Amino acid sequence: MKAVVYVENGRFEVQDRPRPVIRDPRDAIVRVTTASICTSDLHIRAGAVPRAVPGTVIGHEFVGVVEELGPGVRGFEVGDRVAVNVETFCGHCFFCRRGWVNNCTDPAGGWAMGCRIYGAQAEYVRVPYADNGMTRIPDHVTDEQALFTGDLLSTGYWAADIGEVSEGDTVAIIGAGPTGICTAMCVRMRNPARIVMIDVQRERLDFALQHGLADDVVCVPEEDPEAFLKSATDGRGADVVMEVAGGRDTFQTAWRIARPNAVVVVVAMYEEPQVIPLPDMYGKNLVFKTGGVDASHCQEIMDLIAEGRIDPSVLVTHRFGFDDIMEAYDLFANHRDGVMKVAVRISEP
Ligand SMILES: [Zn+2]
Repeated sequence: MKAVVYVENGRFEVQDRPRPVIRDPRDAIVRVTTASICTSDLHIRAGAVPRAVPGTVIGHEFVGVVEELGPGVRGFEVGDRVAVNVETFCGHCFFCRRGWVNNCTDPAGGWAMGCRIYGAQAEYVRVPYADNGMTRIPDHVTDEQALFTGDLLSTGYWAADIGEVSEGDTVAIIGAGPTGICTAMCVRMRNPARIVMIDVQRERLDFALQHGLADDVVCVPEEDPEAFLKSATDGRGADVVMEVAGGRDTFQTAWRIARPNAVVVVVAMYEEPQVIPLPDMYGKNLVFKTGGVDASHCQEIMDLIAEGRIDPSVLVTHRFGFDDIMEAYDLFANHRDGVMKVAVRISEP
């Protein structure tokens, strides 16, 4: 089969790879219909986190059709359209039982597909623990609507949940890229008084405004997020802060714009260690909650999509056929043409 292979740091190419086979009774083989490219795909490199071995088929953001099922898979049938979770988890270890699937202790658990095992920018992919890792897509939900369920939207859903966002809150989201947009979608479901999005790119903030996902925007460095949040909240600051950006100064912005006793959720992945200046924040009594995502609410997310309450397909700004996937990489990696997310049609649904 055709597959995108991680060759060496920053280099990917389409190669021929053997079609995956069932290895465990709980596996499924999924024929990939639509796949996307995630920023973390671009950051895959040997010796770093995530750890991928050169020669690995990459990709973990995708939807497809069940082609084959191991005898231990209970909840699916061949032919089902499914969204697939970025995280593989066993469902019964200490962490899984508490919903903390990101820390599943099973040897197969964690971010496996497109990292430690062959991923989904390919015609077929093996999904381990398929009963936990797949979510059925209702007929009236399109591939593009379902595409972000297992990763970006799971991240947004998890962030809104652990951020304890409640009705009437002022929620600040730092970073208006795809993850920030998905976070805003899930925060919106909790009826905050307002969502303030902060970014360095005006066009991303405009995107959030156009889709009703931000009530106010702050474009840095021209505008000052701390001053804006103070003026918007009688001097208090944001009730909840989502730090999604992972930029050089964004962690400092996150705690500064938070009101006393706020929850600051750190969704971002940083390139470098960050400093928590405790003397400067003494008395703010902040609660920090750190990433990564426990992607254990895919069914709730699919229900929201099916009911028309969120439409993540707005994120798809560019579409490609499988033959042009390297063009999609080039566009996405270089942030050209206002790209948010790409959808690559791998096969017909
Ligand atoms: Zn587990």
